[in-house]
Parts: sequence; structure tokens; C-alpha cells
Amino acid sequence: METYLNVFEASRVDASIGAFIGLTSTIIHAFYTLGSEEQKNEYLSKIANVSLLVSWAYSEPETGSYSSSLQCKAEKNEDFFFLNGTKRWVGNYNFPFALVWARNIKTSKIEAFLVQINLPGVKLEVMKGKFNSRVVQNGNLVLDNVKVPFSARLAFSDDEAKVAQVFINARAGMVMAPTGLICGVFQNSIKYLNDKVRFGARLTSYQMIQEKLVKMLAIFNNSFLLSWRLVQLQQSGHVNIANTALVKSIVISIGRDAVRIAREMMGSNGISLDNFVMKALVDMESYYNLESTHNMAVLIAGREITGIPALKSYSGV
Ligand SMILES: Cc1cc2nc3c(=O)[nH]c(=O)nc-3n(C[C@H](O)[C@H](O)[C@H](O)COP(=O)(O)OP(=O)(O)OC[C@H]3O[C@@H](n4cnc5c(N)ncnc54)[C@H](O)[C@@H]3O)c2cc1C
Repeated sequence: METYLNVFEASRVDASIGAFIGLTSTIIHAFYTLGSEEQKNEYLSKIANVSLLVSWAYSEPETGSYSSSLQCKAEKNEDFFFLNGTKRWVGNYNFPFALVWARNIKTSKIEAFLVQINLPGVKLEVMKGKFNSRVVQNGNLVLDNVKVPFSARLAFSDDEAKVAQVFINARAGMVMAPTGLICGVFQNSIKYLNDKVRFGARLTSYQMIQEKLVKMLAIFNNSFLLSWRLVQLQQSGHVNIANTALVKSIVISIGRDAVRIAREMMGSNGISLDNFVMKALVDMESYYNLESTHNMAVLIAGREITGIPALKSYSGV
């Protein structure tokens, strides 16, 4: 619970820091769930106290949302695994280690490997021009026949149920970040509107402004209660792919509305970086995509309601 409150509090001030804490807890959870006792002893406390910095390398340029079709390959020979493929959007791509997800070509399962980024065959490319979440630099990680020892593979990453739990956990933990961002925007808006005098009165004294503030607070309360309930379900082991997707889809879409309302209430100053809101507006766009896009979350929740999967189109390429 404490971790999620930390994500919430940090995101109230800066979305990138919130995302960093959230992602670090996801990586810890991956090691905790999929690591052997030796791997846990070796890495868990180091990752938790940030003396070992690890990035999360899952997404790929050619697969995007169709993440289960991941193409990065892990080939085992007598003594090593050889990794080949390209990872995209890796946040903090230049951290010393990356947790790389690759398909074991023998078993076809998607497994996790701890890769040191200074190994021969690893090439890093910064993604230039990213406009939001700017504390975190994203990049590509190209793996060209990268040789890693057996011990680099998280021991239980061939257990598909455990791997699914790691990904559900990642998505569930993420909803506290946009919720914190909404809270930060609301608090900054009140302060700004209280200080700003127009037509001889503070902006907060106008009915049309108050109506918008009520809408924002209602959105925040909805987001917080949904996110908090999801955290509780997670703690009690009742979180699943559908309830996580449902909460994610709602929180992100109403959160986007809340930030736009704040921007509107501040008038022209709403587009300035000085007032937190414009930054929050572009940062919220990251959350729209992170840990699956909004569409994916909606389609997963829709499948649960109807029993009909609508993820695939039959029109072909
Ligand atoms: C700021 C930021 C940080 C990130 N950090 C990381 C990270 O640290 N590590 C990592 O591994 N990844 C990271 N990602 C990647 C992120 O998880 C992916 O962007 C995400 O999985 C979606 O893939 P895509 O952007 O390629 O979308 P695409 O798959 O290209 O989708 C484009 C659009 O098409 C829609 N779409 C696709 N398929 C369907 C369908 N079947 N039905 C309806 N609509 C569809 C999508 O919803 C979206 O709107 C990050 C992304 C961002 C923006």
C-alpha cells in the first residue's frame, strides 16, 4: 500500500518521478515473483534502495499493442542465452541494467533476462523529440547476439501464470500515478484561481468556475476511490486483467478531462509551463499509452462484459 501512496504523492508533483517509483516497484515485483532464492537475495534489496538501476524493456517497434506477438528472441546453447531483437520506448534506457523480455525459441514462452547494457552487442539509441515525462529519457535497445549467462534469466519466468501476474500488477499499480496527477492539478488550480482577480473579484467567486471545480473534484474522488479499491483487491489477491483494465480505462479518460478543465479555467496562463497544468496535460498523454493503450484497456474490459474478443480485425493488412 505504501508504494502506491508514494506513487500517488510523487505524481502530485511530477508525473515522471511517480512513473519511476511505479516502474521500480514493478521490477521488484517481477524479481520477487519470478526470481530464484539466489536471484532475490542478490538483487531485491539493491533494486529497492536504487543502488542497482534497472529499466523495463518490453515494448517493440514492430508489435506495439500486440505485445504477445513479441519478436525479441532468446536462443539457448550449452552455456549461454543469445538475445536478438529491438526494444523501443525503454524508459531510462541508459540505466546500467535492463530487464529484457524475449521469446525463448525452444519453448515459445516470453521470459525475462537481466541484461547489463555494456555487454558486447547492446546498442542504445536515445529517442529524440519526446515532449512529455521529460525527467525520464526513453530509448531503443538493440540486441545483436548478446550473450548472457543462464543466471541472467529469471528462474520462474517460464511460468505463464506468474508472468501474467507481473503484468497485471504493473498495470494495477500504474493507476495511482494519473490519480496523483489529477490531485496536483486540482490543488494548483485552486491556488491560481484564488489569487487571480478579474472584474473586481477572485476567479473562485464565479459560479462557472465553481461548477468546473466541482467537476474536477468529482473526477478526482472517482479516480482515487477506484484506484484505491484496485490496490485493495491487489493486496487481497483478487486483482485480475479485467478489473485492472476497467479501472485503467476509466481513470485515464476522466483524468484527461480533469486536466483540460483546469487548463481552460486558467485561460491563456493555462498553456504556460509555470502553472503545472500544461505539463500535466502532456504527461497525462503518456499514461493514456503506458501499460497498454486506452483502447486495449477498453477492449479487455469489453471482452469481459460480452465474452466476445474484439481485439483482432479481419480486414488483414
Ligand atoms: C512515455 C512512455 C514511456 C514508456 N515506457 C516504456 C518502458 O519503460 N518500457 C516499455 O517496454 N515500454 C514503454 N512504453 C511503451 C508503451 O507501453 C507502448 O507505447 C504501448 O504498449 C503501446 O504501444 P504503441 O505505442 O506502439 O501503440 P500502437 O500499437 O502503435 O497503437 C497505436 C494506436 O492504435 C490503437 N490500436 C492498436 N491495436 C488496436 C486494436 N486491436 N483495436 C483498437 N485499437 C488498436 C492503440 O490503442 C493506439 O491508439 C512507453 C511509452 C510511452 C509513451
